[in-house]
Amino acid sequence: MTKKATSEKLIRKGIRTDGRKPPDLRKIKIDVGPLEKADGSAYIEWGKNKILVAVYGPREVHPRHLALPDRAFFRCRYHMAPFSTDERKRPAPSRREIELSKVIRVALEPAILTEFYPKTGIDVHIEVLESDGGTRCASITAASIALADAGVPLKDLVVACAAGKIDGTIVLDLDDVEDQKGEADVPVAIMPRNGAISLLQMDGILNHAEFKEALDLAIEGCKQVYTLQKEALTKAYISEEGPIEEDIESSGGEPNE
Ligand code: ADP
Repeated sequence: MTKKATSEKLIRKGIRTDGRKPPDLRKIKIDVGPLEKADGSAYIEWGKNKILVAVYGPREVHPRHLALPDRAFFRCRYHMAPFSTDERKRPAPSRREIELSKVIRVALEPAILTEFYPKTGIDVHIEVLESDGGTRCASITAASIALADAGVPLKDLVVACAAGKIDGTIVLDLDDVEDQKGEADVPVAIMPRNGAISLLQMDGILNHAEFKEALDLAIEGCKQVYTLQKEALTKAYISEEGPIEEDIESSGGEPNE
């Protein structure tokens, strides 16, 4: 959305409209595998954003002519529910949803070992149930959890977070009001293990020093969210007793005396 500078204060005495300080993230909750029928799924609450992601595949591609001989065909669909915004959104796919579907696919694809599954398809479905700014970052973050839950081999989780400028201050993780009324928004996605950046966008105007500060802060935010992603997966897959030895024993790895 185009930035509109207004006289309304977004930061008063160092505190933002929702009570955060400039470098603070909103509250994030990640639930792994809420959907029974999907191969993998995740639900994320990121501030007031509520987003559900389902992953299907690797499986046969439809239509078949889209299948690739050397790797899996990877598709993403980002959709905002008509009730997900204050003003009712048109149900038909908007230009924004088509663009965000592509942006999210491009951010996730470098992490996926698509060459392991030639001639198959991997589909990511993203449903934004409630939105409050930053849905592309929350969607990327949840989608990589859903891909991991589906057992799709990944080089790393992809994690995304934005930083931006409001009232002349560089802040982390803009909400909808800050996004609309602030001066700039810089969403970033990274693969923390090797530090690769798979998404870098900018809406608004920043000078060179501000851009560097916003990028560094967004990457710092990504690292915090990465910890939450790993905690969510650990909680879902690793019991306190430790899974591996237990599984080997119960599958009869060693014959009983
Ligand atoms: P992001 O959600 O990744 O920040 P945008 O900057 O395009 O993407 O959108 C910012 C916010 O604007 C969204 O999170 C949502 O709250 C709101 N928004 C987007 N599209 C609409 C729409 N059609 N009607 C009302 N609000 C919208």
